[in-house]
Formats: sequence, structure tokens, C-alpha cells
Amino acid sequence: MPDTITSDWHLHTRNSCDCKHGRLPTSMAETLAAVRSTGVTDLGVTDHLHTPYNLPDIAASRQEFDTLPSSPQLHFGIEVSSVSAWELAEVATGRYEDPVYGVRQGGPANGELVIGLSEEDVERFGIEYVVAGTHWPMYVPYEREAVIRDYHRQNMFLACHPLVTIVAHPWWWMGHWMDEDGNYRTDPWFDDFGKVPQSMHDEFAAAAREHGTVVEINLHAVVLNRHYPEGFRRQYCEYLAGLQAAGVQLSLGSDHHAQHGHYWGESASGPEAGEARAIALAAMLDPVGIHQSDLWRLPLRS
Ligand SMILES: [Zn+2]
Ligand SMILES: [Zn+2]
Repeated sequence: MPDTITSDWHLHTRNSCDCKHGRLPTSMAETLAAVRSTGVTDLGVTDHLHTPYNLPDIAASRQEFDTLPSSPQLHFGIEVSSVSAWELAEVATGRYEDPVYGVRQGGPANGELVIGLSEEDVERFGIEYVVAGTHWPMYVPYEREAVIRDYHRQNMFLACHPLVTIVAHPWWWMGHWMDEDGNYRTDPWFDDFGKVPQSMHDEFAAAAREHGTVVEINLHAVVLNRHYPEGFRRQYCEYLAGLQAAGVQLSLGSDHHAQHGHYWGESASGPEAGEARAIALAAMLDPVGIHQSDLWRLPLRS
């Protein structure tokens, strides 16, 4: 029997910009109840902030969080994106219609990277930890080499950022290069993750270790994502094991989105769903020697 999955540090509630238009708006209490019913005991909510345009979502998330019975094992976090200084300035002009996802075109390649979150925001909303992800190529052409260099640059930026606790889903990819059936087969690295040079992984591991930044094992979007080739996902787990061997702490995150209505697999929730998920995850992580007991956890909330 694989170990029950008892932590989840990456969860989106109905306040997140990408959950608001779901068919079945699920309250934060319902979302968390579904997650806990699978055996998860230590967890946090992490709604999206791309630019300060999304701050009202975080305020709503905090407000709903504060209505829940408090628990030392329940935490308030956030997921920020690596974005460009250029787009923060663009969004601040107020001349964009509804820049929920920032400004994804027209910016400078290799420009200054930032996150849309300030230290004051962290204080104001009582944010206990920051999950941060590379979500888009930053104005570079859709060419394998260019995207690899750009993603590495963004991941390095996040691993070194003083406000970032966890780098989310390194090398996750969505959008361009998706086949008509919703699957990814080739570019940018799905036919062979070995296309990403080992030297980049070494540099990233060193940065994460030196800055004490945790790196996420993302369940639904990467490791258990059936739209990614299984061969890629196996290589990816070896990559995670390499980070761990280099002294990097790994954490678990489901990347569950409230509007999906189910937390894992066929059953909506409950112990069977938890068991199915634990078996699927163990099948990926056991062969590379990553165990639940090695994983990072946020200390209990005082
Ligand atoms: Zn993400
Ligand atoms: Zn997410």
C-alpha cells in the first residue's frame, strides 16, 4: 500500500481568476472538505496573482478564508507568476480592457522579470507562503531553444526571489504545440526532456538549495497529467529526484482548481479517491526514490 498523500500546498479556490467562471461554483469550505476527505491533513490555498490587477481576488480569498474554522494545519498562501516589469507598467496605465493574465504580447524578450506581489501585500493579506510559477514564454518566439532558455531564466529568477517559498511546476507547459486531441507530443520538451541541458538543472538546483527555495512536485498539471507523454513524465520524475539528490527540498501540490468539481479521479472525493491518487503517484515516484517522508511541510500555524 502506498503512503496516503497528507499534504497539498497548491490549491485554487473559487476566488482565483481561472476558477470564477466554473459551472458549479464551490465554496472554499467545500473545496477544502473534498481535499481533506482524501486524507490530506496539511494544506494551503494559493489563488493566482499575475499582476496587481488580480489583488481583489486575493482580498476575496482572504476574506473567505477568515470565515473558516482556523486550524494550525490550514494555511493561507498565494500563487504568483513570473511576469515582466514592462507589463506591470502597462497594466498600471489602466488602458487595457481586462488584463487578467497580464499583457502576453508585445513586450521585450529578455527584459526585466518581476512578480506582481509586494512585501506590503504579504503583510496586508497575511500570506504565509508564496508559490511562484513560470506560466508563459516571455515574448520570445515559439522555438524550442528560445523557449528552453527563457523558461530556465524565469525559473532561476523565481528560485532566487526573496519572497518565493516554492517554485511551482518547473517546465510545465500549456497552449502552443497542443495537438487537436488536447495532448502534447513534441515541442517544447515532450518528445525528449533530455533536450533541456543538465547544466540548467544543476544551476537551478544550486540556486534553490542556496536560497532555501522549495521545488514543487505538481500532481495534476505535470506528474499525473495524462495529456503529457508518459515517457516525458518518467524523465521528469528522474529530474525531480536529481534535484532532491542535489539537496533541494521538494513539496507536493495538486494544482486542483475549484471549478473542476472533483479532486482526483472518477470519484468526487473520499478515501477511494485518495487511495487512487496515492497509487498513481507512488507509481511515478517510488521508482526514482522519492518518498512522502522526505517532503517539505509548512510548520503548524501558531
Ligand atoms: Zn501555476
Ligand atoms: Zn496553480
